[in-house]
Amino acid sequence: MKTLVWFRSDLRLEDNPALKNAFIESDEIHAVFIYSKVQLKRHNESNIKIDFLIRNLNSLEQSLASLNIPLILLNSKGFEDNGVLLNQYAIENSINTVYWNNQFGEDEEIRDKKVSKILKESNIQVKNFDDQVVYKPGTLKTGQNQPYSVFTPFKRKWIENFEMDFLDIDFDYHKKNFSVGKPSNIKNFNFDFEKTHFVEMDLWVPGEDEAKRRLEDFLKNKVNNYSKNRNDPILEGTSRISPYLALGIISPKKCILEALKLNNFEFSSGSIGITKWIDEIVWREFYKNILFSFPKVSRGQPFQDYSKKIEWRYNEEEFEAWKAGKTGFPIVDAAMRQLSNEGWMHNRLRMVVAMFFTKNMLHDWRLGEAFFMQNLIDGDFASNNGGWQWSSSTGTDAAPYFRIFNPITQSTNFDKEGLFIKKYIPELKDLDKSVIHDPPKEHRRYCNYPEQILDLKESRLRAIEAFKVAKS
Ligand SMILES: Cc1cc2nc3c(=O)[nH]c(=O)nc-3n(C[C@H](O)[C@H](O)[C@H](O)COP(=O)(O)OP(=O)(O)OC[C@H]3O[C@@H](n4cnc5c(N)ncnc54)[C@H](O)[C@@H]3O)c2cc1C
Repeated sequence: MKTLVWFRSDLRLEDNPALKNAFIESDEIHAVFIYSKVQLKRHNESNIKIDFLIRNLNSLEQSLASLNIPLILLNSKGFEDNGVLLNQYAIENSINTVYWNNQFGEDEEIRDKKVSKILKESNIQVKNFDDQVVYKPGTLKTGQNQPYSVFTPFKRKWIENFEMDFLDIDFDYHKKNFSVGKPSNIKNFNFDFEKTHFVEMDLWVPGEDEAKRRLEDFLKNKVNNYSKNRNDPILEGTSRISPYLALGIISPKKCILEALKLNNFEFSSGSIGITKWIDEIVWREFYKNILFSFPKVSRGQPFQDYSKKIEWRYNEEEFEAWKAGKTGFPIVDAAMRQLSNEGWMHNRLRMVVAMFFTKNMLHDWRLGEAFFMQNLIDGDFASNNGGWQWSSSTGTDAAPYFRIFNPITQSTNFDKEGLFIKKYIPELKDLDKSVIHDPPKEHRRYCNYPEQILDLKESRLRAIEAFKVAKS
């Protein structure tokens, strides 16, 4: 049987149910990736993430070649032509069945329904699977049979219902004597990609082997101190595996399995670092479930309906200062400069800058959400939307609106010595830790570092008032 595996955000061999099932059932497999510059732009995918995607496609092509499976790239104008493209390819190559792993988000779900319909009309079978989360999205429900909108009970249920069989991801891709229908075309494919980011890509080596190496290194050297170190951005105490999870270079099941193995398969006892790290992976699952169960999230709407009434401000200069890391608040600026230098930002700082943006600046969270997607290498719609809505108190299980991080306190608490600030704001590298978190005027002048764009106390009260008015 000739089959086609449509790769999307699952660019790996291990724990890839679509590929595994095709492998078992086929004599000839065509692996296909549909590339659309227009669609990537529509979804605000960043230049660095596209760069990383292309590098990972090259790596996937090599891995598939070792199994006698060619990777074919199809050029697309956007989701709307995917059905026609796949149908045409399938007919031309006498494909019987098309396999894929599901993606979440309204546009993706609509696309997949259309693609299935077109293929079925041509008598081509469609088989789809779930690989993005441990439980099929939407299956974990509250006692009232509703989807969860609060993390802690979601996690409790997630653990209660857990069975080790879920992590049965072992599969031996022994070389099968597939006939190779077509040669890969990646070498001659025109990605029409122009690099506009400034990140040194040695930071983000592509490929499944690298993702596994990172996981192994983190579990061996860092996870036991994760609970203690995860909030201090200079310590590099987290895994930095998010870009690999976002494109599916590694699966969440693989991450959970390897972490559990180290913890005698315990979720709530043993190493606090390991249980805390698994919690974070469950947060990722929580937001994917929110995206699946509440389509309004895909439509740019806030989770809390009352928050539609908030009167957001807009000030071009403040917005530009925030983007450029020139707000005059060192921890905010260092974080934003980490984003432009590395395409990635530490989690604690994502919360700090998002809260500063939506509360102190009182700017619409959707602007910040889009800017993050346009700049992150790990841009993931569900987690990014969840993080922005949490920070702006418009989301599920969000921070209460009156809980507003003070960036200077956050800085003294989590970057005590000011080393993170010094790393990303060289202008401030000679300042003592006693002044670096909020340099006095003369130091700012001397270091050529900007004045604060706003008054923290006043802006805090302004935000609380705006939320109060919207609520009433
Ligand atoms: C405003 C904001 C925007 C965010 N945008 C994204 C995004 O676009 N893509 C993204 O993957 N994460 C996002 N996050 C979540 C989190 O910041 C990153 O997942 C984390 O910093 C990635 O670094 P790491 O791999 O070292 O994480 P680790 O601490 O090692 O955690 C392991 C994995 O758990 C998951 N995870 C960790 N924290 C969270 C969280 N709070 N929510 C959901 N999943 C989590 C990630 O997949 C992460 O790779 C955002 C958070 C906020 C507050």
